[in-house]
Amino acid sequence: MNRQPHVLPTYGQSPIAAAKGEGSYLYDTEGRRYVDFCAGIATCSLGHCNPIVVDAVCKQAQQLMHCSNLYTIPQQEELAALIVDKIVGIPGRVFFCNSGAEANDGIIKVARRFGHRRPAADGSPRYEVITFNKSFHGRTLGSMAATGQQKIQVEFDPMLVGFKYVDFNDAEALRAAISKETCGIMLEAIQGEGGVNPATPEFLQTVAELCREHDLLFMVDEVQCGYGRCGAPMGWQAVCPTVKPDLISCAKGIGGGFPMGCFWVSNRAIDAEGTELSSIMGPGSHGSTFGGTPLACSAALAVVKEIVNANLSARAAALGEKMKTEIESWNLPVVECVRGYGLLRGVGLRKGAFAVPDGVATPAAYVNSLCLKAGLLACPAGPDTLRLIPALTVPEDVLAEGLAILKDVLSKLD
Ligand SMILES: *Cc1c(COP(=O)(O)O)cnc(C)c1O
Repeated sequence: MNRQPHVLPTYGQSPIAAAKGEGSYLYDTEGRRYVDFCAGIATCSLGHCNPIVVDAVCKQAQQLMHCSNLYTIPQQEELAALIVDKIVGIPGRVFFCNSGAEANDGIIKVARRFGHRRPAADGSPRYEVITFNKSFHGRTLGSMAATGQQKIQVEFDPMLVGFKYVDFNDAEALRAAISKETCGIMLEAIQGEGGVNPATPEFLQTVAELCREHDLLFMVDEVQCGYGRCGAPMGWQAVCPTVKPDLISCAKGIGGGFPMGCFWVSNRAIDAEGTELSSIMGPGSHGSTFGGTPLACSAALAVVKEIVNANLSARAAALGEKMKTEIESWNLPVVECVRGYGLLRGVGLRKGAFAVPDGVATPAAYVNSLCLKAGLLACPAGPDTLRLIPALTVPEDVLAEGLAILKDVLSKLD
């Protein structure tokens, strides 16, 4: 049965339709309850219908939903200051948009402008951004080209020029890929969609060093890892807190389910005159009609304040460790390893350890469908990894309930 004959079928058919949410539970239209370890793919960071977010949205909706960026939107400055001071922790400025792909397009534009202001030795602008195999940066023409996965790009060629992909965590390949056109290196601290593959701390350090050495921008896609998800305010801080990115893209968890994205640009000097990187995007250089509306900013303000005030990063770190230890303690033959940081965890499924029925795309998709039938929503990441990304506020008993379902499903695989 096709439930949605008028909707473009870009997503595979799901057997359930969502009706309502409550914390870390999602209910379908038949009234069945699911433990939600998907959380809108790491988006509903405070759980479903958290009164903190609901109240903020309702109050602001009655005041002013939208007005143009031609006028000052006071919530933007308050939110930007919070992001700069309490989340990123490095002086910079923020641009508001609506999604992760848009945020990535934004930082790619900043990198290209930087490549004009800091051209190659022969005076030609630099424009190339090096990204990584198995990365995911989004579906727009820019962010798709940045994504180092063939399956995302197939039949949409020609791609936007100016990207080169190398293996993640391969410092030598990265060094060798830098050319006179290169202006930036872009990565996820923990690759989310690609399989929950963390960067090593040494690799992040090498990226930072190469950026300094070759006058490149260090670009971090925090769309999935950011805002407490990985046990630190930002994902890179969980992996290697000593490095300092130049550009950061954000979305997903920042809005707690309300569409919101942003990118942060460092104030660091890019030349001997002390020109700040964030100053190169002046009036007219970028824009978004819906970016940073009073409504979206109010939602994000409520979410980010709660993440900071309730120290949900630390909570994610503690619960994530618990989750990993518990899954490893099952000693199941189908579980190869548990990867990730905080509440971004991937259960690596051992190849060939169980049979995948014909017509099912990947082992991860198969296990994910079994979990759903058993009452647990998770999410595949790459072909062999089941991703567990519950709300940062997931109650401990609901976490235990979800893990019990997972254990049962994994134990029955053969
Ligand atoms: C989801 C995701 C994106 C794309 O975000 P959209 O809001 O879907 O455009 C980009 N980068 C990463 C790391 C993501 O996980």
